[in-house]
Amino acid sequence: MLNRPLGFLLLLALGAIFFWSQRGENQHEVVRTALIMDTLVEIKVLGTDEKAINGAIEDAFTLMKGVEAEFSSYQPQSSITRLNRSDDSVAVSSRARKLFRLGDSVRRQSQGAFSMALGGVKKLWALDKVQPQVPTTEQLARVIPPVNRPALRWDGLRAQRTSALIQLDLGGIAKGYAVDLALELLRRRGVVSASVNAGGDIGVIGGHGDRPWRIGIQHPRQAGELLARLDLHDQAVVTSGDYERFFERDGVRYHHIFDPHNGRPARKSQSVTVVAPQATLADALATAAFVLGPQAGLRLLEESSGVEGLIIAADGSRVITAGLKERLKWR
Ligand code: AMP
Ligand code: MG
Repeated sequence: MLNRPLGFLLLLALGAIFFWSQRGENQHEVVRTALIMDTLVEIKVLGTDEKAINGAIEDAFTLMKGVEAEFSSYQPQSSITRLNRSDDSVAVSSRARKLFRLGDSVRRQSQGAFSMALGGVKKLWALDKVQPQVPTTEQLARVIPPVNRPALRWDGLRAQRTSALIQLDLGGIAKGYAVDLALELLRRRGVVSASVNAGGDIGVIGGHGDRPWRIGIQHPRQAGELLARLDLHDQAVVTSGDYERFFERDGVRYHHIFDPHNGRPARKSQSVTVVAPQATLADALATAAFVLGPQAGLRLLEESSGVEGLIIAADGSRVITAGLKERLKWR
């Protein structure tokens, strides 16, 4: 005869085994999309409880929209707009301070190639408008902020621009941050297999079922073609490319990633793909390495711990960090 507590434990164990065997049979893959930050965001979750999965995805989208509301320079009430319009200090959230700190550390590591202060430059080029333009050197000189200086000075949770020329723009890091927040929420909800893709800024939880997540890397010069594939497990991969947002005039391609030294589209790369533990870091490093180009960019990626990457130089040649060479499957 079993005593009662032991019998109860046995029942519990049997229940757990039953639930576990059900998992294999009732796996669902829920895929949903939303338009956030002008980007089609896709979240995929594998699991058994479809209703809970849908609720978690919905909440992840809400969280990502909150990132847009707080950090977009297009939204009149965002922290970024308030900072850009004020010469005095402005109260911001603790997550804003954290995000700026990370961005600023990438600015320092990249000798200023990564800059969250190029809003004025971006506005001049008007790449997001119907009529983009090529500004003159004089026009650019009036909006280029000082390089080698943090964009903000801090007093607790109050921040103030360090120069009147600084117009904050987090376009090089905010999407990655939104991806990380979404992944964090899904993890908290018990999700063990998911991917969040914000227009090429990708982060995954676990594998895709029993296999790793298989990610395609876009060919920078052949639209819709893949350059390579990469297997991913509990990591993020982000690509910055000159093909994402550009116009051509007189045979010259003008794109959206600027060299902070001259306010013009950076000329050393076609695309950069970065693999990192977090999408926020991968996003900032991809933009930074794009500006730096194959030599200095590769050095930056090799020096960053837990980070790997691939740089397609302006002439189409490729450089790859040592740890990524074996992982890339070329098409
Ligand atoms: P990404 O696609 O992540 O490389 O980011 C490109 C976006 O980041 C642009 O659309 C700008 O909003 C912003 N940006 C442009 N140049 C830089 C730069 N040198 N450093 C940081 N952000 C930049
Ligand atoms: Mg970026």
